[in-house]
Amino acid sequence: MNKCIKCKSRKGKRYCSAFSGLICSLCCGKYREKEINCPESCIYLLKHRSYQEKKEWIRNIAKPEIIEKKQGEIYEDKKFMWLTFYIEKMIVDFASNHDITDRKVIKTLEYVLDKLKKEKSLIYMGDKDLKEKDELGEVIYNSIKNIRYPREIIVPESIELYNNEEKIKCIENLIFSAKLYSKGELDGKNYINFARQRVEKIIKESGEKKIIIPR
Ligand SMILES: [Zn+2]
Repeated sequence: MNKCIKCKSRKGKRYCSAFSGLICSLCCGKYREKEINCPESCIYLLKHRSYQEKKEWIRNIAKPEIIEKKQGEIYEDKKFMWLTFYIEKMIVDFASNHDITDRKVIKTLEYVLDKLKKEKSLIYMGDKDLKEKDELGEVIYNSIKNIRYPREIIVPESIELYNNEEKIKCIENLIFSAKLYSKGELDGKNYINFARQRVEKIIKESGEKKIIIPR
């Protein structure tokens, strides 16, 4: 009988590539990503992760009362609608040329959020905090730096521009939106497809109604 490489008592039924040996399901679950440096390719890790993410989606994301509030904030308020459209269009355009998943989009948005929050705090975080550059994240961050809300009537500049808090609120809600529309399947493209449909719909409507949309 093949004994588990970890507890050496139960039968090892799973091949653990971190140990190059068989492990029992109990030890696999107990030490996964804790004591064991699990490779990203491990099927047990991926299975467990997608199970957890689906659970998290049902428990914390797919709640009608939260959805209504968060979605209303970015998809119904005119000023936020514009910024949301602008960012989602960048994501959709990027996704047309790159094979990315909803997980990558969420990571990118979190990267942008992180940069926006640092801009606000003005605290030097030290070198250890320097993250690896996210290509799409940099594009989004730089594009919204001086973005203006194109209202027809003339308003003071402070109202026209988006301040740091508004950008943070928009990105936070977009992260929620990406999680929501991913349906908890982060390695898929449910959110990306949803965003593409919305972007196309707005572009189509803008042609009919002659409303201004960003580039
Ligand atoms: Zn074991």
